[in-house]
Amino acid sequence: MSYTLKSDFMKKASIVSIGNELLSGQTIDTNVSWLSGKLLSIGIPVVSSYTVGDDTDSIIRSFNLASSDADLMLATGGLGPTDDDLTRQAFAKFLDAELQLKDELLQKIKDFFTSRNLQMPQKCTIQAYMPAGAKALANNIGTAPGIMAEVKDKLLIALPGVPSEMKQMFEESVLPELKGFVTDQNVVVRKLKCFGAGESNIAELLGNLCRRGRNPLINCTAKHGVITLHIVTTAKDKIQAQQMAEKDEKLLTDKLGELIYGTGDRTLAEVVDEKLAQQKKTIAVAESCTGGCLARLLTDIPGASRYFTHGWVTYSNSAKTSELGVPADLIEKHGAVSDRVARAMAQCARKRAGTTFAIGITGIAGPTGGSEQKPVGLVYISVDSDSGCETKRLILSHGRDFIRLRAAQTALNMLRLKLEG
Ligand code: AMP
Ligand code: MG
Repeated sequence: MSYTLKSDFMKKASIVSIGNELLSGQTIDTNVSWLSGKLLSIGIPVVSSYTVGDDTDSIIRSFNLASSDADLMLATGGLGPTDDDLTRQAFAKFLDAELQLKDELLQKIKDFFTSRNLQMPQKCTIQAYMPAGAKALANNIGTAPGIMAEVKDKLLIALPGVPSEMKQMFEESVLPELKGFVTDQNVVVRKLKCFGAGESNIAELLGNLCRRGRNPLINCTAKHGVITLHIVTTAKDKIQAQQMAEKDEKLLTDKLGELIYGTGDRTLAEVVDEKLAQQKKTIAVAESCTGGCLARLLTDIPGASRYFTHGWVTYSNSAKTSELGVPADLIEKHGAVSDRVARAMAQCARKRAGTTFAIGITGIAGPTGGSEQKPVGLVYISVDSDSGCETKRLILSHGRDFIRLRAAQTALNMLRLKLEG
């Protein structure tokens, strides 16, 4: 996915993630995605990101690359007090500046420990050093101040890597510095959330609207069957950017219809929650292969007790009969994974729970247990209500976790469509 926008007036950013743990598979780099989203939301698209280990030469090389790619470089990690953290030293070398001890920074670090009834470890003294000419950025929850320097027309910033510290420092110490940096550009990003079609189907439906270089630029991401369309609009005027985004939102909504379930960061469960509560309707679920995943999605939302009454996990055939009342001979005749059993699970659950809706799910999550007629990934989902019982047959792939979650999400989407009438 690319947010690269063709605008002469636009300031751009590059991110550098520093730490051996990011290269050894130990730590997932969450800083780069968080920062990219934040920067874009204030009108600074990220055009590149680099990940390097705790090595002075590598850090300097990445600073050179980042500062030639963009107007703003944001680095995270390597500002700790231990010998393996080398960002401070590398930053000074990159600037060709000496590291100088700052008394006021040292005092702040000492105070940090004193307020916790602790003695400052000697090692922490290094965190009171700044490259000459650089500015310290306050860290109000940890000991390592950030480092900011201006080189020609580029702004270079290094923050600690601990995500909670980095986030707070970005909001409190970096954002105020960027106010003067961002001048006449406005980026508005709207998100439309879709379920029920793949990325390529959606791209086909949108056709020319997805072409690169268009403004707004439509970008597409997919996760657990949810397709998110990002409408990225750039203009010199904020109102104009908003109007352009709104116009596109309407255009996309007209083209995609009921595939769109919501906007922003809404989940399917949140949309279903709102509709069930508004319409004062109730739901019970009877799950087999999803093992409670659907009940979990529904009850993750605070206040779900307004509409969620029962969740059965009936994994064995006998449980389907004893707990729900699915006739044993029906299971015998059609098999536990069949549309007849999914229907019976939904119908029996609704009868027992006395709810407006009930959902039955049965399938083969794998990796074993599949056959030629009934392969791994075969799932039946039934939604029962006064207006009848609707059943969907799915063939899913990509492993057990994916199959279970996707089945539960599909069930939520079926319910959403029923609630939308
Ligand atoms: P550091 O500032 O390099 O001492 O980093 C401290 C800790 O923060 C590391 O041990 C990681 O657990 C975490 N961390 C550092 N960089 C990142 C990153 N880019 N994304 C997520 N966690 C990180
Ligand atoms: Mg580190």
